[in-house]
Amino acid sequence: MANVKKEAPELECANCGTTSELTPVITYVHQGEEKHVCMHCLPMLIHG
Ligand SMILES: [Zn+2]
Repeated sequence: MANVKKEAPELECANCGTTSELTPVITYVHQGEEKHVCMHCLPMLIHG
């Protein structure tokens, strides 16, 4: 039997550098580029 290890990819916030292990990090696409931002930085992103 294969030992399948499920490992979630750890994402890093492009703004503050925190990882998805500490804070929820979401992925979004801007101008065709995939980016990641944590919940703390998301409001800043929305408000410019
Ligand atoms: Zn952040």
